[in-house]
Amino acid sequence: MAMVINDLKQVCSPCKGTGRQAGRSQWGITQINPDGRCLACEGRGFLLTELGRELMALLRPFVLEMMDSREAETPKPAEALKPAGAPPREAE
Ligand SMILES: [Zn+2]
Repeated sequence: MAMVINDLKQVCSPCKGTGRQAGRSQWGITQINPDGRCLACEGRGFLLTELGRELMALLRPFVLEMMDSREAETPKPAEALKPAGAPPREAE
């Protein structure tokens, strides 16, 4: 089965893939969009297709697991290891 990325996502049509939208029209009234971000795609410029959503749902547990294990490997902040009374380190 050949799968291409276009099967998973499609260019957002309201913003034409830019992820930005100056405003939107509703009932013939143009409303200003405060942060300029496309509301349809949340600024990503693309939308997931049905297949893309299914794949995301399928992968999410694995992704979360990966993130969890990566977090566990990350050393704890230096504060915990610093002896009491040590002067605070200057920002480098
Ligand atoms: Zn968009």
